[in-house]
Amino acid sequence: MYEADRATHRTTHLTQRKTPSMCQHKPQCPTAEGPDREAAFTVAHHPEQGWSLLCNGVVLFEDTGELLPDGQIIAPHRPLGTEHITTAA
Ligand SMILES: [Zn+2]
Repeated sequence: MYEADRATHRTTHLTQRKTPSMCQHKPQCPTAEGPDREAAFTVAHHPEQGWSLLCNGVVLFEDTGELLPDGQIIAPHRPLGTEHITTAA
């Protein structure tokens, strides 16, 4: 006799996008609502795609544009060309 195997305890939190609690830094990083949101730590960096994910849920694009967790888009606001890229090879 077999009992139904329901050992898959999957908890999906796909709707948790409003207030991301990814940040475990101390002191806590600026929230996505703050003007200094870019100061948050980078948790995922995708230079080949030109964007980074900050721990407050903000997606920061290469051209300094931003996508906020609530879907708001911030236009690029910083001039490029100030970065010093060192290639070691
Ligand atoms: Zn953080």
